[in-house]
Amino acid sequence: MNAPFPSTPGVSDSDPRLPLQLMIAAPRGFCAGVDRAIEIVERALQKYGAPVYVRHEIVHNRYVVDSLKAKGAVFVEELDEVPDDAPVVFSAHGVPKTVPAEAERRKMLYVDATCPLVSKVHRQAERQIEKGQHILFIGHAGHPEVIGTMGQVPEGRITLVETVEDVARLEFGPDDDLSYLSQTTLSVDDTREIIAALEARFSQIVAPKAEDICYATSNRQAAVKDIAGSCDLVLVIGAPNSSNSLRLVEVAERLGTDARLIQRADEIDPSWLEGVGTIGLTAGASAPEKLVREVVDRLSDWRQVEEQVVTSAEENMVFKLPRQLTD
Ligand code: SF4
Repeated sequence: MNAPFPSTPGVSDSDPRLPLQLMIAAPRGFCAGVDRAIEIVERALQKYGAPVYVRHEIVHNRYVVDSLKAKGAVFVEELDEVPDDAPVVFSAHGVPKTVPAEAERRKMLYVDATCPLVSKVHRQAERQIEKGQHILFIGHAGHPEVIGTMGQVPEGRITLVETVEDVARLEFGPDDDLSYLSQTTLSVDDTREIIAALEARFSQIVAPKAEDICYATSNRQAAVKDIAGSCDLVLVIGAPNSSNSLRLVEVAERLGTDARLIQRADEIDPSWLEGVGTIGLTAGASAPEKLVREVVDRLSDWRQVEEQVVTSAEENMVFKLPRQLTD
């Protein structure tokens, strides 16, 4: 049922649906790494037939995972849940080196869907270790990308740093050979603060060759910054375990705007719209555009929606598929 809305000047009492300005952020939703990972699973299903096993959610989105399950993908958390003779895909977040090593030992057919931008961080980590540096890795404990990147180097050669407070607690000195790297889906602003704290404490620390936070993460955060100040509420479509989606909620909140993370349109409580004249809408890098349209349709059930797409950057990144699926 429609919730009671406050009256809006200039709107006829005979029209029960009050206007709602909807500012849709662009870019939003799928990034090139997510597109590629989903296509890898689909092509693996075509090439090898079902079932194709996928280690961890291919991307952090239930709708995507359920669609692939319906086509014959089987999602598992560990390789020991996969039969030796079944094909297996590693998720876009990347895996520790022990995972492909185990697959090779068991002579399994595997396809690596790690995003090339995550692989780039893996290669940087290897190079920093070769140079004898100890890596301070900025990221969130327990996230699969963090587990994967920390698993690229020997134990004891990389230390996780989650906050500025963590930097103060590090037990390194001015003579230690240090470098840093970061997870690709962090808050641009938080990471800048952590890097400043690292550089203030360790003047010798070596920075990565290029920024590790990926283009999609930065662009989606910048796009939310562009609209949040003009909105009463920002809706972010994404999963609770999607790092880049959670960061979009934080970006809006830090600008003083209420923000809510939703997975699907049916999670919107009509009471959220009470007194709201302008809503911002975006989607994390693992959320399909179909879910954005679903939210627009749901809002249109209650209010007279006037859509405006606010574009802050154009994206045209495309990543190549692994050769084993294109031959
Ligand atoms: S969010 Fe960035 S790093 Fe992650 S899959 Fe997308 S492009 Fe790759």
